[in-house]
Amino acid sequence: MTATLEKSLVIGGGVIGLSIAWRLAREGRRVRLLERDRVGRATSWAGAGILPPARLEGATDPLDQLRGLSHESFPLWVSELEDFTGIECGLRRCGGWYLADTPGERAAMLGMTGYWDQLGIECEAVSSQALSKREPALATWAKRHDDASAWWVPDEYQLRSPRYLSALRQACLQQGVEIDEGVEVTDVRDRSGAAEVRVGNLWYAANDVILCGGAWISQIAPGMRLERSVIPIRGQILLLKTAELLSTRVINVGNRYLVCRDDGHVLVGSCEEEVGFQLGTTDTMIESLRGFAKSLIPDLATAEQAGCWSGLRPMTFDGFPMIGRVPGSLSIYVAGGHYRSGLHLSPGTAMVLTDLVLGRTPVVSLEPFRVGKQQTPSDSPLSGIRA
Ligand SMILES: Cc1cc2nc3c(=O)[nH]c(=O)nc-3n(C[C@H](O)[C@H](O)[C@H](O)COP(=O)(O)OP(=O)(O)OC[C@H]3O[C@@H](n4cnc5c(N)ncnc54)[C@H](O)[C@@H]3O)c2cc1C
Repeated sequence: MTATLEKSLVIGGGVIGLSIAWRLAREGRRVRLLERDRVGRATSWAGAGILPPARLEGATDPLDQLRGLSHESFPLWVSELEDFTGIECGLRRCGGWYLADTPGERAAMLGMTGYWDQLGIECEAVSSQALSKREPALATWAKRHDDASAWWVPDEYQLRSPRYLSALRQACLQQGVEIDEGVEVTDVRDRSGAAEVRVGNLWYAANDVILCGGAWISQIAPGMRLERSVIPIRGQILLLKTAELLSTRVINVGNRYLVCRDDGHVLVGSCEEEVGFQLGTTDTMIESLRGFAKSLIPDLATAEQAGCWSGLRPMTFDGFPMIGRVPGSLSIYVAGGHYRSGLHLSPGTAMVLTDLVLGRTPVVSLEPFRVGKQQTPSDSPLSGIRA
């Protein structure tokens, strides 16, 4: 007797949708992914690809648990992806410098390093003198700062986001996922124990539907009542190219960073702008990013500008992504709102969402990520009352 394959429809081909589609297909699910534009070209493409350290064991914050699961899974996840597709993702355990420019940043770092210590995450305070020796590109910065302003964190990785997305796309195709590009979903509904999605005037049925629309997730299906859950926050990136290799690390200062690739490119980020769904870079912000880069590594003042771009991060109001079933539905799921960490959280999100779809208990409790908790009570999908 041949078993009938269940069919999942994934809406949105960013890092979250692709990771889930690949994982579900590997588990034997028949999967189709619908993307209104081109797969892997929205926010995930724009991401800097920083994977900061995290550990599952001992983590009490639910988001840190998900981060820990993802972080610890990343090396194997990527090596399986690379072996399967032959596409190299540029995952590198490059280590990260964490620098404090101001007393506030220093205080924040002391809190952070205390927490890392509790979790057993390696972090070393480095004197200014030692910093100059170990990272000569930062010698000028080190001279201007006291001791207790720099920390070395070896378990930080960087990833080449566009390559990772190409590998995920290829893995999906090789695993039998049907990918339809240029297909916009305009509604989703429950129908006799299954789910249906609307494309143009047609409705397509599936056993389950997973909404992964990134910053646009609340617009996919008005009936799902997600409209107050996610807002877009624009981030801009400046890409510089140096003639000589200055560093190969990630250098973090507060919310800004340099990602030093091993080919002389330096990615400078970023900012958090509330400008609705407006993409694009501004001269003022690119200039400010150049100034930031220069303040860390003076040689970057004259580095060639190799590019600049922006992306819309999907932000939720409580900082937790939404991962789970839509309240009241047995077959419609949501995975979105990963804000600044969607690349980092992609393997973990794919694992727990797949477990949920297949009726298994996820290794991380999904209660704190439940869908709909960010709507006001009268707006709640459970209430059935429209605002
Ligand atoms: C400047 C910047 C730097 C960042 N750096 C990092 C970093 O270093 N590390 C990290 O982990 N994260 C980083 N992020 C965050 C990360 O990029 C996001 O969290 C992640 O990309 C979100 O992935 P997603 O799949 O949810 O969304 P997206 O990549 O935006 O994908 C959503 C997809 O859904 C499609 N879609 C939407 N509506 C529909 C519809 N109705 N029908 C069909 N398809 C639809 C869209 O076209 C899109 O392709 C950064 C983000 C930015 C902007």
